[in-house]
Amino acid sequence: MADLVRKYRYSVLLVVLVAIAVVIATFIYGYAEQKLKRQVFQEYQQQTADKVHGLIENQQHSSKTLAMSLAENPFIEDLLVRPNEELRSKLSNLVTHINTHDGFKNLWVQLINVEGHSIYRSWTGKVGDDLTDIRPEVGTLLQAPKMTQTISVGRFSLTFKSIVPVVNDKNHFLGLIEVITQFTPLVDRLREQNGIDSILLTDKRYRKQLTKAITGQFVDDYYVTNDGAKSDLLALVQHLGAANLVNAQGYVVSEPYLITRVPVQNEYHENLAYWLTFTDIGQIDFTQTTWVLQKYLVISLSIILLLLLLFMLYMSKHQSDREKRYYRQIIDSVSDIIYIANGSRGVDVNRHFLEFFKEYDSVESVLEQYDCISDAFEEEEGFLTKQVNGQYWLDYVLNHPKESHRVKIVRDGVPHIFLIKVKPMRGLKEKLYNVLMQDVTQIEEYEKELKTLTVTDELTGAGNRLACNQALEKEIQRSRRYHTPVSIIMYDIDHFKKVNDTYGHDVGDKVLVEVTKATQQLLRNTDVLCRYGGEEFLIILPETDEHEAYQIAQRLKEAINSLTAIDVPTQITVSLGVAELTKWDTDNTLLKRVDKALYKAKQNGRDRVEVVAQGN
Ligand code: GH3
Ligand code: MG
Ligand code: MG
Repeated sequence: MADLVRKYRYSVLLVVLVAIAVVIATFIYGYAEQKLKRQVFQEYQQQTADKVHGLIENQQHSSKTLAMSLAENPFIEDLLVRPNEELRSKLSNLVTHINTHDGFKNLWVQLINVEGHSIYRSWTGKVGDDLTDIRPEVGTLLQAPKMTQTISVGRFSLTFKSIVPVVNDKNHFLGLIEVITQFTPLVDRLREQNGIDSILLTDKRYRKQLTKAITGQFVDDYYVTNDGAKSDLLALVQHLGAANLVNAQGYVVSEPYLITRVPVQNEYHENLAYWLTFTDIGQIDFTQTTWVLQKYLVISLSIILLLLLLFMLYMSKHQSDREKRYYRQIIDSVSDIIYIANGSRGVDVNRHFLEFFKEYDSVESVLEQYDCISDAFEEEEGFLTKQVNGQYWLDYVLNHPKESHRVKIVRDGVPHIFLIKVKPMRGLKEKLYNVLMQDVTQIEEYEKELKTLTVTDELTGAGNRLACNQALEKEIQRSRRYHTPVSIIMYDIDHFKKVNDTYGHDVGDKVLVEVTKATQQLLRNTDVLCRYGGEEFLIILPETDEHEAYQIAQRLKEAINSLTAIDVPTQITVSLGVAELTKWDTDNTLLKRVDKALYKAKQNGRDRVEVVAQGN
């Protein structure tokens, strides 16, 4: 499981990141959606408030105009001066007529004379009562007549009141005409023109005052001012709490409605009532929002994708950097020289290369200044050179995979020998070759030394018995092939035991060395000297017959005899046997015969040469 996670860790990481990105995008999207929705609701609320205010202003304006035009009417003047039933009934007809127009449904008209008595009321037959007692503003207006407009709450309802002074032609003040209009037509108009349902709640402060409330409906002591309010909306207001709605700042969302609240104020900016509008959220136009959100979605997704892409690029670069570092460490840790070539030129080298070619301090400087490593190869027989048999060295090595290829490179006058292996590198864009150069200089030296050691006698430096046998075999073959003579001399130091006993083993060793030296001085280059046994030596003399060999043996005997006290402690004599190869001889029979000759020399008193001829 842990392995699996490790193996797919980048994929897992990617999935996790995508998931996080999606969660973040969803969260931000949700947030943006909410915010945009709120914005749309706020705008909608503002538009609704503007519409409501527009309706109120319009109504005020038209009721004022109506009051003014009524004030101009001569029979109104007459009615104020000389009130009578006929004129009252005429005015009632007029009011009824006006009431048939939608805009002035429930329009009320009152006439007040200069004493403050009500002369005419369109909504009741009651007349003659003094209004200055219950309505102080009437008294004020009678003192200083002027046109006023108010929104106020009376016993019946929340109303607009337009009061206009009535004056005759001679500019005599005759009284006041009051036009009172209701809010219901405005609520109806909003529904008809904009499809928005409303409930107009008069503030609960007026609860007690509204003794003759027209609609007779209350919700939590708030008077339902408009006629024909829908019962489901009233139930909703009840459910949400009228106080909560009228005191709400801004809009309230209660599915499926968006409820806005527009305060209705008097001239002193007191909130008299609250106009609550109910709009089905489904009817609100969100096209702009949707478009913004789609744009947002596209942009945010693009950003997320871009970030993911960057992340993936970063990860893959990170990964390849890691791999590079990993392989760089491996190739640098190799003790051989690694040289990567693209054929004719180098493209990379390892640390060991730089250690060997000290003039370069970095891979880059090598690649800049160095054409090909083969420029450094010595043109020498037995070594790989830049061109071999008309082939480029790389091709030659690749074409001869079973051969071992060695090159020689001289650095500071010291020759280095490298074993070269070339491998084509696979799975890369470029065709590259991995050239591995193993420094075998020391190994070759050891090998040479080892070879010498196996055929050399350590003490005297002459060949050993193995060398002797090999040389003898070779010379016998040569003699047979070229029909040339070959003779051998075998000699043994006389009474050598005594030398050892008398002067010690070390002195004995020195005698052996001196005897060897004396012998070598006498011999030709082609002659071979070997230490055959303890103090017994064999000389192979190519192209030498028995006679010549005998003479050489004699000279050798004399040379050893004449070794002086500087070299040896006492006079040294040797016994020598001589034999020449015959056509019937093998190396064994020849050796036997020379041994016999030596034995004979010993037998015959030592310090002499004996020959054993063929057949003996
Ligand atoms: P002969 O004249 O009959 O040859 O008498 P010899 O004493 O030379 O012969 P023998 O075979 O009795 O003794 C050979 C001696 O050579 C015995 C041995 O200790 C000595 N010897 C053999 N190899 C070495 C060597 O490498 N160094 C020394 N110092 N002595 C050696
Ligand atoms: Mg001996
Ligand atoms: Mg001896």
